[in-house]
Amino acid sequence: MSRSNITDEDLRAYLAEHLPATRMAMIEQSLRDSDLLRRQLALLARDNDHGGYSVGEVWRRGRLSCPTRGQLGAYLLQALDDAPREYIDFHLQIVGCRVCNANLADLQQASASAPEKQRRRRKYFESSAGYLRRDG
Ligand SMILES: [Zn+2]
Repeated sequence: MSRSNITDEDLRAYLAEHLPATRMAMIEQSLRDSDLLRRQLALLARDNDHGGYSVGEVWRRGRLSCPTRGQLGAYLLQALDDAPREYIDFHLQIVGCRVCNANLADLQQASASAPEKQRRRRKYFESSAGYLRRDG
């Protein structure tokens, strides 16, 4: 999808999440690539902002980009201040970024299984070390 195919209507629908997930993802990708498109979206968001959920506020600050994996990890650990936490909430739930939702799920899974993995790795290491000692 080229940038020129994205209309104001698309962007409004994007803000309101009235698009299929694949189209949402394509528009988000285009937004990442284009300052112009981001500005356009910010303008539309401002027009649409009726003081409820401050979508416009978020876009005005130009915070379109994905949080880092580290920030997502901190989010999971509830170690973030209100502002970044709210942004990540927005990014995950309102924008519905599939990359970050997948990352978050991955992090959740990793943190759930980390102790088990470490135990197994240590066991493996210890038995290998034992082997080496016996051989040497
Ligand atoms: Zn993201």
